[in-house]
Amino acid sequence: MSWRGVYHPPHSATKLNAELTLGDRHVHVTTEQGEHVWSLADMDVSVPVGSLPLVLTFPERDTFIPDESQSLADALGPYRKGKRLHWLEQHKLAILASLLVVVLLVVLLFSHGLPALSRGLVPLVPDEVPNQIGQKTRDALDEHMLLPTQLSEQTQDRVQQQFDGLVEQLPALPLKPSLVFRQWEGTANALALSDGTIIVTDALVALADTPEQLDSILLHEIGHLAHQHSLKSLIRATLLSTTVALLTGESTGLADNLLGGGVFLLTKGYSRDDEREADAYARQHMTTIYGDATAMKAMLKRIGKSNSSGEQLEWLSTHPGMKARIEAIQSAR
Ligand SMILES: [Zn+2]
Repeated sequence: MSWRGVYHPPHSATKLNAELTLGDRHVHVTTEQGEHVWSLADMDVSVPVGSLPLVLTFPERDTFIPDESQSLADALGPYRKGKRLHWLEQHKLAILASLLVVVLLVVLLFSHGLPALSRGLVPLVPDEVPNQIGQKTRDALDEHMLLPTQLSEQTQDRVQQQFDGLVEQLPALPLKPSLVFRQWEGTANALALSDGTIIVTDALVALADTPEQLDSILLHEIGHLAHQHSLKSLIRATLLSTTVALLTGESTGLADNLLGGGVFLLTKGYSRDDEREADAYARQHMTTIYGDATAMKAMLKRIGKSNSSGEQLEWLSTHPGMKARIEAIQSAR
């Protein structure tokens, strides 16, 4: 079949009378200047709008406009439909690829983006935030779990002086540590809160054979403060719930999570990486102050031994992987 019309050569205002012939795979346009042949796949067909004529555009931007659009549009029908299907076939892959990219980005966001972002955000958080959260956490602990210390004034003074002397020997900390004595159902435990409070239980003080042994646990807790682990975990948890809320549109749990941040830290403890960092801090300063980390190893073993003899030791559940930690201290020696 053929159609008469006008051919516009590339980059030219010239109009040439032309005849277009459709083949199975090719289109032929014949003018007084000669014949052009293009593959149908290289031809672009304008979408018919109202009474505007159909325009066929070829690779070099040359065009053919038929005198009568409708019959050519009908003739091109199956081909144009085929082309659209072809487009979908190509784009099915594109859609699949973009889905994969989105999934990958979400995975990367959770695995790398959030930890990096929480590290970056730490300096931007006003001091009042960790202070408030630390105080709230301490109040909640005092109300629900902790009892006043039964250590004698003398013992408290001795440990307090030991703690002050220890802090003096350390490089400047991002927040001022303060020591607090409490009882926790007779369990040996120590805990660093985001405001710099370090809670030490009576049982932990009793478990330490020597000042060096107690220092190693205090240094571990100070290590959490030095690396601002509680603030980082809190920001991580907040970013995580915010991201989940943004991705899923579910925001009801957000406020709860923000308020429960302090409690979240207590129940989940710090991450293993945080524990390793705190151990490394303690090991480094034990070595600087006492020459080696023998006392730290001994204290961890004491805690482990008490545990295996049936005493419940919270420090173990909030500070997991005791055996690996003792080995890490040994291998670093
Ligand atoms: Zn720890």
